[in-house]
Amino acid sequence: MSGLLSGRLAFVTGAGSGIGRVTSQLLARDGATVVAVDRNLDAANATIEALNTKNDHIALEMDVSSSDSISKVLRAVTEKYKRPPTIVVNSAGITRDNFILKMPEADFDAVVNVNLKGTWLVLQQFGKAMVEHNSGGSMVNVSSIVARSGNMGQSNYSPSKAGVEAMTKVVAREFGRYNVRVNAVVPGFIETPMTETVPQKVKDMVIMQCALRRFGKPEEIAEVISFLASDRSSYINGTSIEVTGG
Ligand code: NAP
Repeated sequence: MSGLLSGRLAFVTGAGSGIGRVTSQLLARDGATVVAVDRNLDAANATIEALNTKNDHIALEMDVSSSDSISKVLRAVTEKYKRPPTIVVNSAGITRDNFILKMPEADFDAVVNVNLKGTWLVLQQFGKAMVEHNSGGSMVNVSSIVARSGNMGQSNYSPSKAGVEAMTKVVAREFGRYNVRVNAVVPGFIETPMTETVPQKVKDMVIMQCALRRFGKPEEIAEVISFLASDRSSYINGTSIEVTGG
């Protein structure tokens, strides 16, 4: 299959749902071979089964908050494809919302461990493999607009995503000399399983504050990720692109 990402091996975390799933679809549409990982293997398998291209895509179970789990998957991927990916998308993420006065410390740790440390672990291990293989590449992290605006009930999630943006800038500086670019997308409110449980009252407020007066679709984030993954964005590095509807 020919396309913008033809011949590229793409690695997507959180690929069993929402933005990660649709990103896997669009990267495959654009010609990449996709390794879809999620802590829920059945969900990652369902993502791969729905891809209708002939490339040799696979689904694997991986927990981004576990260094061991990531090394195991990296080994399996390089053994299978004889090279590391040149596209890495960090989409795995969780919320555990509550007011700070009610939030158990464990919910702070869980969110930071997945969203912030998980991104760091994947950047470190996959970045090392990319640097050693010397083939360049593009890494895309998923932050959130609440990293910039703050949001009631998210004293764990908002700072974890602000950290992802800061980390993106640092690692872009460190990997630039190896021709590995690192950028972030900053979504607004996107219709995925993550936002299904948000109370209607809050949804109405979000819509009123959005210039386009609607929620985003995962496709609208995935298109930007595919652009950042491709050579069409070859001089974009160490930055974040807001995709919020204004
Ligand atoms: P989603 O539908 O819940 O998908 C996230 C996926 O990541 C789920 O399959 C989830 O599995 C998986 N996951 C969670 N923890 C993991 C771990 N430790 N290791 C591997 N996989 C893990 O959410 P989404 O809306 O697509 O979110 C994707 C990314 O976009 C997240 O980083 C999120 O913070 C960010 N984001 C979303 C929005 C939005 O409005 N939807 C806005 C801004 C940013 P489980 O289902 O088992 O948890």
